[in-house]
Amino acid sequence: MDTRANPPLVTQLRESCPDVPLLCGELDFGVLEGAAEIIVSPGLDTNQSPYKELKQQGINVIGDIEMFAREAKAPVIAITGSNGKSTVTTLVGDMAKDAGLTVKVGGNIGVPALDLLGPSEPDLYVLELSSFQLETTESLMPAVATVLNLQADHLDRYGNMVAYHSAKQRIYRNCQQSVWNKQDMLTQPLLGKESKTVAFTTGEPDLKEFGLREFDDELWLCKGMTNLIRASELRLKGRHNLANALAALALGEAVNIPMESMLKTLTQFGGLVHRCEWVSQLNGVDYINDSKGTNVGATKAAIEGLAGKEPNLVLIAGGVGKGADFSELQNPLREHCKALIVFGEDKQKLQDIAPTELTVCVSESLEDAVKQATEQAGSGDIVLFSPACASFDMFRNFEHRGEEFRRIVNTMGETA
Ligand code: ADP
Repeated sequence: MDTRANPPLVTQLRESCPDVPLLCGELDFGVLEGAAEIIVSPGLDTNQSPYKELKQQGINVIGDIEMFAREAKAPVIAITGSNGKSTVTTLVGDMAKDAGLTVKVGGNIGVPALDLLGPSEPDLYVLELSSFQLETTESLMPAVATVLNLQADHLDRYGNMVAYHSAKQRIYRNCQQSVWNKQDMLTQPLLGKESKTVAFTTGEPDLKEFGLREFDDELWLCKGMTNLIRASELRLKGRHNLANALAALALGEAVNIPMESMLKTLTQFGGLVHRCEWVSQLNGVDYINDSKGTNVGATKAAIEGLAGKEPNLVLIAGGVGKGADFSELQNPLREHCKALIVFGEDKQKLQDIAPTELTVCVSESLEDAVKQATEQAGSGDIVLFSPACASFDMFRNFEHRGEEFRRIVNTMGETA
């Protein structure tokens, strides 16, 4: 069923499954009420009508991850969090591959979970899971699960942090081991003491934790008292990425991936596109594309990760704020930014929280925003495109938005 009268790929769908009725347009409640189980897309809120009422009638409402969990036999590493999911999922997948394991990576990133299933089982699945997917999942029993961090996001759907928190916490149900972020208490597994759990922190670690330590004037990633690798040996940049690296090591260790091999992967992994991705340097100004910075926590991490000793950033932000409170950006803006360029649907809300002493420019298009940012930046500065917002007011998705930013910057470079 699809509520759109003419959804994309409808002809192909009809041709490939001619025996399955396809119902488009308004939902047929008779059919829904007669169902033994309803499988919904994660985009739909099952706490709203009609799914809410159908659940009250005792009908099971599930999602694709639940279907996957019922079929998959190999161990699953399950990863959620407000930010860093894709980075950690890809990194853990690479660590497993580099260690010689057969691994399938997907879920909320790249390949949908059901497409990972095949005639033979891999050694390991690595799944990125969204809070929406977790809401409709019952049977998943991860070998190890993590909530990387929990910052306000999707409040337009959840209304408050409590509901968002409980959706994320569902990842720990029935997990054999858990990994959590000691600096973010909301990620702590609400499980009994007997369950095996390991914490990571960007502070100094306790005996069994993963963390960071200064040693001989260098910053090291460590486990307990053991120094593992210098932060400078990683290709990933920014403190938030050190947290991501530590989480990946903890997850990999939980499924017995050899430490030496994981550390080697860390020296090779350069990060994903649209996440604090370097685009170009023009007249001494670096342009960074962080289009995947779709909420306040992500943009705060990007600012803090790229900040110099003096304010050196010109931030371009804006789009659809999803009901978020932008005021958490106030301090990072005050401490690290020279100017703020706002655009998109919620530009006014961003403008409202900007520190009074900060230069703020309003733009009607991304093109104009990049132009204004360039005017504000001097040699040695960074133009950071990290919107803190979703993209659907002006773009197809965050990838499209990031590609547009890249295109605009590169065109500027050609004409300069
Ligand atoms: P997700 O899949 O959860 O959206 P990504 O790995 O794609 O996460 O990163 C999205 C953005 O979140 C990045 O562009 C960066 O700005 C920010 N980010 C990445 N890791 C972290 C982290 N550990 N804590 C806070 N923000 C982060």
